[in-house]
Amino acid sequence: MPYWIHSAPDDLDDLRECARADRCADPRLETVGGKTVRRGAFTPRAYCDSCRGIIERAIRELPAYWGRVYATLGQRGQSAGPKVSISKSAPIPISLAADELLRDVASVVVSWWERVATVARLRLPDTGASQRLVSYDTVRAACSVLAAHVDALLALEAQPMMRSLSLREAADLPAGTTGLVHRSAEYADVLLDLDGADAGLEMLQLHYRCRRHVGETSVSARHLPTPCQSPCGYKQLYEVLNGDGEFDGAKCRQCGVVYTAQEYRDLVAATGDMIRRAGVRRRSLAVPGYLDDTEARRA
Ligand SMILES: [Zn+2]
Ligand SMILES: [Zn+2]
Repeated sequence: MPYWIHSAPDDLDDLRECARADRCADPRLETVGGKTVRRGAFTPRAYCDSCRGIIERAIRELPAYWGRVYATLGQRGQSAGPKVSISKSAPIPISLAADELLRDVASVVVSWWERVATVARLRLPDTGASQRLVSYDTVRAACSVLAAHVDALLALEAQPMMRSLSLREAADLPAGTTGLVHRSAEYADVLLDLDGADAGLEMLQLHYRCRRHVGETSVSARHLPTPCQSPCGYKQLYEVLNGDGEFDGAKCRQCGVVYTAQEYRDLVAATGDMIRRAGVRRRSLAVPGYLDDTEARRA
């Protein structure tokens, strides 16, 4: 009987799926039950190299976004405010939304700063009264440490950390979660076991919330003009964006097939060839179509 040494150098058991899963920037496309699904790249760490780069960039950009959100604090009226979509059923003044976001960013980045400072043997952040103020300087100091030690951040082991959640979010937590509910203020302080993978997701979420607050993200996926490949043939392709909000491919809502950005461009070119061969001249289908917004044009 051969004897297998567990610590073989090509031990694939040490690889895991990138923690961004189906939103991974370097996804594996797998066919499951006839449908193509996106899965995270295999990596020996919490995130693949592409997603690690995206997280590091998000951390570096966060202080500037914090400043832009801060600039909206005093803007209460919809006419004076930035392009923030607020549901009509919940008319929250913009200043409250900005205030909550500013506090969330500051408390989350400082909490990870403390954990990274501990493992990297850096000076711990001053948790005195002045430093606990929600300020641009605090956010910038925290983010500069996190960006410089992003690998230490993403490799952190799970440890209990305090998070403030809305009561609705808190209701989805597993039974037995420790926390303190502030019913009149409609939020809860809860203790969650968070590791480096959670740190990466939290940074991306904060970055996304800031971008959404200043009106940089579109809410729904754009409908693309090119029909899905045969045999599907339905005009049900929608844009897929990466974590930076850039075009990253397309997904068919009819048959579920996923195209990478290159596959989509190939499809657009093939569709153009097909139309030319058939003698139909429709320039709009022969050019890369993902910048077209057929829904807006219809409105
Ligand atoms: Zn990834
Ligand atoms: Zn399809």
